[in-house]
Amino acid sequence: MSPKKLFIANWKLNHSFDSASKFLDAVLPYYFTCDVAIAPVALMLDFMSKRIKKSSLKLCAQDVFYEQKGAFTGEYSAWQLKELDVSFSIVGHSERRKLFFETDEIVAKKAQACLKAFITPVICVGESLAEREAFKTQEVITKQVRAVIDIFPSSLDQELIFAYEPLWAIGSGKSASLADIEEILGLIRKILSDHFVANENRILYGGSVSPENIDEISVSDVDGVLVGGASLQAESFLAMVEKLQGEKLRK
Ligand code: PEP
Repeated sequence: MSPKKLFIANWKLNHSFDSASKFLDAVLPYYFTCDVAIAPVALMLDFMSKRIKKSSLKLCAQDVFYEQKGAFTGEYSAWQLKELDVSFSIVGHSERRKLFFETDEIVAKKAQACLKAFITPVICVGESLAEREAFKTQEVITKQVRAVIDIFPSSLDQELIFAYEPLWAIGSGKSASLADIEEILGLIRKILSDHFVANENRILYGGSVSPENIDEISVSDVDGVLVGGASLQAESFLAMVEKLQGEKLRK
């Protein structure tokens, strides 16, 4: 049986408590048949967790620290996310890798901390435009994926989600082509199945997904999407979820 499709809304540093609350007013009456998660700013996780409790929505963190506790001012742990009923955490988003100097090693440690706390990590991988133009896409993706999976035994029985997010497609309005998505998803699937005995890991695509192109993207081999800009407004969020789940939204 193929796994449930997954839609993750990455709100980044957007929305006030008031606008997030209005978004929820519009979205909460619906029942979703695919997995749907929102990744708000960390400060809003507690508030969102309380609001979505009786709904089919899930929560995703945008980031997490790899230690459980201690002298790490400003950080929060996967165990604390679990206390708020958070289901997923993005790790290694390209903005964190670039602006906050996160290395492959840090990303792997964060994924490991997530699994220890029973949070499913959503590990972002992707090449820059320069890497793509130098024909290094496969090499970059392989290195980023291997850095994470190599720290886990082949018998791992928890899910690791990967999101292929080419850097040049994020926030640019220019999504990757279907052929590119299928090629890289195929590569990631092969790396995962070579390493893990049981491989039920979902692989998402992210980068300028919108209500206009999600139909085309979701007929490909993707298990779901990670969406930034187009997920901020309830109307386009609902339009995309309806298309991904492949059936009319029900209240
Ligand atoms: C993202 O930041 O993960 C992303 C995919 O953003 P956007 O959809 O805006 O390209």
